Amino acid sequence: MEQAFSIISGKRWSSPGMRTADVLNPATEEIIGTVELIDPAGLDQALAAAARGFTVWKNTSAYDRATVMRKAVAIIRSRKDEIARAMTLEQGKPLAESLGEVAACADNIEWMAEECTRAYGRLLVPRTPGVNQLVRREPIGPVASFCPWNFPALTPARKIAGALAAGCSLILKPAEETPLTAALIVQAFHEAGVPPDVLSLVYGEPRQVSAHLIASPIIRKISFTGSTPVGKLLLTLAAQGVKRATMELGGHAPVVVFDDVDPVKTAQQAVAAKFRNAGQVCTSPTRFYVQAGIYPQFVKAFAEAARALRVGDGMDTTMQMGPLANSRRLDAMAAITADALAAGARLECGGERIGSRGYFFAPTVFSDVPESARIMQDEPFGPIAPIAPFNTLEEVAERVNGLPFGLAAYAMTRSLARATAIGELLEAGMVGINHYTVSTPASPFGGVKESGYGSEGGTEGLDAYLVTKSVTQRSSGADLGPL
Ligand code: NAD
Repeated sequence: MEQAFSIISGKRWSSPGMRTADVLNPATEEIIGTVELIDPAGLDQALAAAARGFTVWKNTSAYDRATVMRKAVAIIRSRKDEIARAMTLEQGKPLAESLGEVAACADNIEWMAEECTRAYGRLLVPRTPGVNQLVRREPIGPVASFCPWNFPALTPARKIAGALAAGCSLILKPAEETPLTAALIVQAFHEAGVPPDVLSLVYGEPRQVSAHLIASPIIRKISFTGSTPVGKLLLTLAAQGVKRATMELGGHAPVVVFDDVDPVKTAQQAVAAKFRNAGQVCTSPTRFYVQAGIYPQFVKAFAEAARALRVGDGMDTTMQMGPLANSRRLDAMAAITADALAAGARLECGGERIGSRGYFFAPTVFSDVPESARIMQDEPFGPIAPIAPFNTLEEVAERVNGLPFGLAAYAMTRSLARATAIGELLEAGMVGINHYTVSTPASPFGGVKESGYGSEGGTEGLDAYLVTKSVTQRSSGADLGPL
């Protein structure tokens, strides 16, 4: 039985009467561990540590910060099997996906370690002789960050990497449903030599933890990944202290498939992307608009490929899709399915839970889905794919951009003119044309509209933790006398 606990100043936080929560394996519903839920006294300790840690880390040179971060990368890579196993057991995704996530996690930290030595400022051309005008980029201060359960290693790693690269201290609150993976990532940083006060790990009751940390004047920035309603709540808390925020919120990524592509190959590629992590990915392709000329062939090939997916315990390496991460998602899938059927959509495959043990839901495909169905408005965050036909670019543009979300969007075409037109037209923070890989260490990852603001990854991901200071310095001719 594994135990997860908060780590403050490098030590386990415990106090009498602290509550615990169970950690479940979503493939078996067995309890595999417990997580201790921090109390307000512990959060105050974490805040004090973050304040001390900021003083230490901002005065550590970028080169030394990068060296420590690269050591953490080496540790994470050397423990990839252990971390991936913990992830599959507590989150459910197939082991190969967990291994891929650990690799991405190391790559992202490594990229930020390199970039942190390039947080350049500017030297301005002064208006007055004898005056130097500088633009300095400085770390914003202690950060509080909140992560969800769908990427238990990558999301914490991105937040730690950006903050530490910039010279900030960080209090990380991973999801209590998947605490064990994040603990291994944080442990790697501590073993690599990050000063204990610089990085704290806390688990607790989410609403209580975020309210407590965000209200503290010590915290200067928050970073949240999760649903739009929770993001709005945290933004209102951050607004009270005029705190900077990076918000990675929900999406509902459209895929526009034009009639000049091979419908079968395009459908097979789409299925692989759609059912990754059982569809619990914020950039998952979730609304398929297929041009009328290839619509029937696409639907047939998509449903065939979805039906052929091997669904089961992610620890079994022959499986291609694991269970949903928790029972809430199972209930949500049942409700979305019932609503789509009532709206008149045609069920091509799936539509129900698999078995009665473990949170497995069959890969589900709906065709002829009317725009009024709930699944065309709200992201499914699960293994349900709605497909609808369209005729012209103008018509589909209105439909894809009609929602308040704009995280990822995709288009498939062999035409350069169409690719250019749709790339310009899609209202999204990330656009993939002819493939689905929108997330790399160098690319800014973030959304527009109610999908949030700010980016993680890329130079923007470092900027997110920096403030700008303009320094004007008179070096001669001053009235102060000789310097
Ligand atoms: P939820 O909105 O209750 O929680 C989402 C995450 O936010 C969880 O990890 C939770 O611990 C955390 N959270 C909740 N309230 C919080 C608070 N007051 N302060 C700090 N953190 C808080 O929903 P859920 O049932 O876990 O997930 C459902 C929906 O969340 C999905 O449909 C999806 O839209 C969204 N989601 C998005 C992402 C993403 O990567 N953008 C990840 C997970 C979930």
